Amino acid sequence: MTPYTLPASRFCELVVNHNNLSEQGFLQWAFYPGMLFQSMERWWDNGGCRDKPHEGIDLCLYIDQSGSTRGLDKAARIPGMYQGCVKNIIDDYIGKTIFMAHDIYNDTVKQLYSIYGHVELLGRIESGVILEEGEIVGSIAGTEGKRLKILPHVHISVALIPESFPAEQLSWKIMNESLDIILLNPLDIFNGNYTILQQT
Ligand SMILES: [Zn+2]
Repeated sequence: MTPYTLPASRFCELVVNHNNLSEQGFLQWAFYPGMLFQSMERWWDNGGCRDKPHEGIDLCLYIDQSGSTRGLDKAARIPGMYQGCVKNIIDDYIGKTIFMAHDIYNDTVKQLYSIYGHVELLGRIESGVILEEGEIVGSIAGTEGKRLKILPHVHISVALIPESFPAEQLSWKIMNESLDIILLNPLDIFNGNYTILQQT
């Protein structure tokens, strides 16, 4: 893989703004180790091991001014991280996953995608829709009544995908198995402070 620097995204700041987190005393984002990119740990249910490395990050926890750990509400609004086009929407085990392509390419003509998992669609979101940076792609899906005991969260992946790849075929299985798709660490492109929590 050639060294490649992506333009920074204001995503974390946009999530704070869209959900009035400053009024909740937002200080910084927080992650359990199992929420991080390529982690093999499960942070839900009773822990244990994932069956494959985590394809992105799970965003929901933050620390407030008093030092308390808080979670984003179910239905928190999730913005797109750059201007782009919705290319595909599939079901996942909690809600929907939205694949969004951006006019950002690396030197081997792979296109940058941002992927938002475990959301519900809001407004006019469907394949083909163009969104400005920060426009809302969806809201965090509820997890009550689901198979897994897990906090509502948005899963974020960032990937370089060949421009020629048929977007309507994108799925989590393809993301994990295709040798042509390069997963990147979303935290490398987000401006924003975060801390790693020890899970008890
Ligand atoms: Zn995840």
